[in-house]
Amino acid sequence: MKKYRTSIILFLVFEVIAIWLWQATGNLFFLLNFSYIGICIGIGGILFAKGWKYAREFTQFGVGSYMLVFLGLICHENMQIEGFWYYLLCGFWGAGTLHYAIAKIFGPLLFGRGWCGFACWTAMVLDLLPYKQPKSPRKAWGFVRYIMFALSLAIVLLLFWLGKADAYTMFLLFVAGNIFYYAVGIALAILLKDNRAFCKYICPITVFLKPMSRYSLLRIKCDEEKCINCGKCLKVCPMNVEMNNNSRSRKNATECILCQKCTKVCPTKALKC
Ligand code: SF4
Ligand code: SF4
Ligand code: SF4
Repeated sequence: MKKYRTSIILFLVFEVIAIWLWQATGNLFFLLNFSYIGICIGIGGILFAKGWKYAREFTQFGVGSYMLVFLGLICHENMQIEGFWYYLLCGFWGAGTLHYAIAKIFGPLLFGRGWCGFACWTAMVLDLLPYKQPKSPRKAWGFVRYIMFALSLAIVLLLFWLGKADAYTMFLLFVAGNIFYYAVGIALAILLKDNRAFCKYICPITVFLKPMSRYSLLRIKCDEEKCINCGKCLKVCPMNVEMNNNSRSRKNATECILCQKCTKVCPTKALKC
């Protein structure tokens, strides 16, 4: 059972949230929504522990497509950062704000950037591109995320100022925002030969994710006694994390998406989650 422990704990965390929100609000949606996400994460984690090759993709598509297609396109919830600002400024504590609070602001204290590795609908598509291992070193372009973060807030404030901030406009913004993210993400991935270039330089959500995941309980650890510096973990990491360098352990967690590609290739089992 030990190898399934993390999956079971994560499932239970989501189930507690589901039941608590259902009881607190009387809204059955919260029970179904968070139970579904918890089940996807739990099953994905168990399949991963069993060694199934596509376990991560199972969870990524299960959660990512549910949020993009069902919550976003069918239910018209703007789950992007503009939606978060909109609901926050309206004082509305709904699915969008809860999603940010759990997956991207407070949840990373427990599961780091697990959202980025196992659930994000933008990365779900970017991960299908052929550049799974970056072909070049990381660039110092991280400042762009702060510009995007400020722009996302500015767009919503402008809509309020123009009197156009309503549910329909936010839905249109959700569709336009996703088309923009996919277009920029795919173009950057091809240009830099790096599937996760968008995550490294552009994504505004990392402004929340990075500082919180610095203190994540769930993280990859390197046993330096076992490490033989073969460099295999560095080659497979989609996020260019120096996971074998313990001196930057806190910083490693801010970039690591917990995909565990490094733990799979480590010949001495020096890396563990
Ligand atoms: S960095 Fe942004 S785009 Fe990339 S996986 Fe995380 S939330 Fe998604
Ligand atoms: S350090 Fe390992 S788990 Fe983290 S992103 Fe890189 S390969 Fe994935
Ligand atoms: S793959 Fe394992 S042994 Fe090789 S450098 Fe990474 S941590 Fe060290």
